Amino acid sequence: MSDPSARIIALTNQKGGVGKTTTAINLSTALAAVGKRVLLIDLDPQGNASTGLGIDASNRDVSTYDMLLDGRSLVDVSRETIVPGMFIAPASVDLSSADVQLAEDRGRLHRLKDATEEVRGTYDYILIDCPPSLNMLTLNAMAAADSVLVPLQCEFFALEGLTQLMKTVREVSQTVNRSLKIEGIVLTMYDRRNKLSSQVEEDARDTLGPLVYQTVIPRNVRLSEAPSHAIPALLYDHASSGSLAYQKLAAELLSRQK
Ligand code: ADP
Ligand code: MG
Repeated sequence: MSDPSARIIALTNQKGGVGKTTTAINLSTALAAVGKRVLLIDLDPQGNASTGLGIDASNRDVSTYDMLLDGRSLVDVSRETIVPGMFIAPASVDLSSADVQLAEDRGRLHRLKDATEEVRGTYDYILIDCPPSLNMLTLNAMAAADSVLVPLQCEFFALEGLTQLMKTVREVSQTVNRSLKIEGIVLTMYDRRNKLSSQVEEDARDTLGPLVYQTVIPRNVRLSEAPSHAIPALLYDHASSGSLAYQKLAAELLSRQK
């Protein structure tokens, strides 16, 4: 019997295009592939995680919007993906108005937390794909999560936005969610031919120490192609460097939790 209580991990970075959604899809898949029961909650109005897992925009009658603002349960909103053992609660475009609606009512900061409590026993891992801002959706995710996992793109200025993110995590952990931790920081889009990548890695490891995963996600075209086929990289090209890296990341995450 596995632990009946899911670990809830929010994928956050207020920068867009750093690999949150790619990590959400492929880390979830890698965890499911080793037998974990996984729920991916799509909290980004763009719904890229939902599309990337084959849930077409025309096929989202119920979404995380209904969960946050219409009191629908996560059970109602979730469905199984093409990956066995992996479920998704899809996002819809109306989620873009949820930020303002959530801000109008302080009580709604805990809406996602209440919803996840009901399904904690059903899953081993619940991953939350956050929008690229520190808005009410992201705060809902941080209120519900045990930890945040931060993808850091190996680019100039990568570490700049991290100070603000860390400050927000600290504030949340001192107020609405005292048990919030940093799960880890994963370097993404690493290009071994580019000196900048190794420079960012060095800076990140110097500044953040063991918070940075040993596993580094390479820049790999298979990772960017897979979503257009509406499947994760593991199913698109299981031997690709990108897919292998996410399997390694899943193993590292699991071993850290032991
Ligand atoms: P975010 O969710 O943070 O906005 P995405 O995961 O959507 O970022 O990634 C932004 C873009 O970069 C997408 O087009 C995605 O396919 C691509 N991408 C992400 N990670 C990689 C990678 N390791 N190698 C190549 N392309 C990547
Ligand atoms: Mg995204």
